[in-house]
Amino acid sequence: MKMTHKAGGLLAFFTLTFSAASAQDADIVVTNGTIWTVDEDNPRAEAIASRNGRIIFVGSNAEAAKHIGAATEVVDLGGAFVTPGFYDNHVHFEGTGRLLYGLNLLDVSDETSFVARIRDVDQRYAPGTWIVGGDWSAYETWAEGDVAEAGREVNPDDLYGNFFLPNKRMIDSFTEDRPVLVRRFDRKVYMANSAALELAGITRGTPDPEGIAVERDDRGEPTGALFNPVSGAVESTVLVRDNVRTLFSDLIPAPSREQRIAETKEAWNKMSSVGLTSYCDITSNPIYVDIYREMRDKGEMTARARYRPPLDRWESMADLGIKVGFGDDWIRFGATKAWIDGIMGNSSARFYEPYTHNPSSRGIWRDIMFPFERSPNNPEDMQSRLERLAIEADAANIQLTVHAIGDEANGYLMDMLERIIAKNGDRDRRFRLVHAQVMTDRDIKRGGEMNIVAEVQPFHTSDDMRWMEERIGRDRSRGAYAFRRLWDSGAVVSFGSDSPGTNASRYYLNPMLGLYAAVTRKTLSGQPEGGWFPQEKLTIEEAIKAYTLNTAYAGFEEDMKGSITVGKLADFVVLSDNLLTINPDQIKDVTVDATYVGGKAVYEAQ
Ligand SMILES: [Zn+2]
Repeated sequence: MKMTHKAGGLLAFFTLTFSAASAQDADIVVTNGTIWTVDEDNPRAEAIASRNGRIIFVGSNAEAAKHIGAATEVVDLGGAFVTPGFYDNHVHFEGTGRLLYGLNLLDVSDETSFVARIRDVDQRYAPGTWIVGGDWSAYETWAEGDVAEAGREVNPDDLYGNFFLPNKRMIDSFTEDRPVLVRRFDRKVYMANSAALELAGITRGTPDPEGIAVERDDRGEPTGALFNPVSGAVESTVLVRDNVRTLFSDLIPAPSREQRIAETKEAWNKMSSVGLTSYCDITSNPIYVDIYREMRDKGEMTARARYRPPLDRWESMADLGIKVGFGDDWIRFGATKAWIDGIMGNSSARFYEPYTHNPSSRGIWRDIMFPFERSPNNPEDMQSRLERLAIEADAANIQLTVHAIGDEANGYLMDMLERIIAKNGDRDRRFRLVHAQVMTDRDIKRGGEMNIVAEVQPFHTSDDMRWMEERIGRDRSRGAYAFRRLWDSGAVVSFGSDSPGTNASRYYLNPMLGLYAAVTRKTLSGQPEGGWFPQEKLTIEEAIKAYTLNTAYAGFEEDMKGSITVGKLADFVVLSDNLLTINPDQIKDVTVDATYVGGKAVYEAQ
């Protein structure tokens, strides 16, 4: 890193003679930067001064010197490029921490790396804590970041034969006292070690549990692999997942608070290392609010959270006085979340017309309170419940955010929003269309007219373009991730990651991947040449704004976050390269030199 630190004494002495007596001493001054402030009134600067966690000066090196006192820390950025701290609009925080601190086997398809990953987690976890999850072989069907011909739907005939299959002997020697229950990415095969099998009562001589086939060697000894009893039957594959869950659910204790705190710190460290200073937390478990409070009070919080409970809790939120604007500098509230359709990954997003590759399906309506795909028994009941709760929460000045992926799901919500406005009146409500992945021309236009926030995750473009046209055809794909037209319509385009992703695909916290996707519209491997529907590209300046100020706006926080402006929180990032001048293809490789939150360095590259 090029930055050098020094105490402010000497420089302060030097500048004392001409510094204004009234200028406030800063806690920290960063100088000699190439600072992109995302503040229209003052877009470029050389220096930032901060005091008590807030920005007190943005401007030239010479002017900044007036804020250097005897105790001021001065950091020479050596010309490095600086932006506001990035603000992720959509993080599944619990899952992100668990994956980062726990087991990740998505890219594992061989014994050596399988054993190494289990051993790694074994050394980190407290004694007795179960090692679970993993999702091995996710990338065996298609290379990460590549243009896959086949897409991600697995041929059912390949279920058992063609994938890596771990067994308990690979890990039993070092996991005698630690139960392990890992799964393949498609949840069609599980693998338990001896400790876990024993607790579940699966041993030599015992019959197979209900709905689960136990693989055994020629002596009848379980190998650890747990299959679906009906070979190759795709419809019954749901069962092995459910049956394994049922069998083990009472055996696997919930993560301890200590474990959750360790996961939380791991996630925050990761955020700091990629320049994220704020995020919207999509976790439903309220225990995280409690953990945030504990960490905040101890002064150990290093990223700022905006927490978003499910819509059906709006009344208890209102009872606590929660509405738009509620919270402090670290933990904020004011929004609820709901769901209305499925996802593209398994073709359950809801469309006006059938899927191109599956003419018998238009996707599903999803129960509004379930983040997993669960079709309601009666979609009309579900929709009227959504609308009733949405109208009530909106009237209580609680912000609405609703997951919508397919064009009909997005269109339905636009219709609903029109009715909410008719009922509760015009107001600055910043309705957040979560994902807003595929929209019709008409809905893009309406979105702008109603000043919606498009809570999009641009890396989905890089990931999904590999199979999007095969699923929904060329014409509908024109409305997929249509960031340019959304932006121009007047909608507020806000960026985030959707970390940690699905069982089949990682969505990384790193904002550079999202900026790269929005500006190039290419896969990670750089395809296609010129970008996918290149007319929907944003400029890098717009993309940075979408990942900073627009996400702050999306949370009614534009007065405290999102730009390097006097009075706002001193959250900013020093990058390895100048995003405004670098070749866009290289944005994905830009790294973070330092991350400042409230004027304190929470990360510095080695
Ligand atoms: Zn999500």
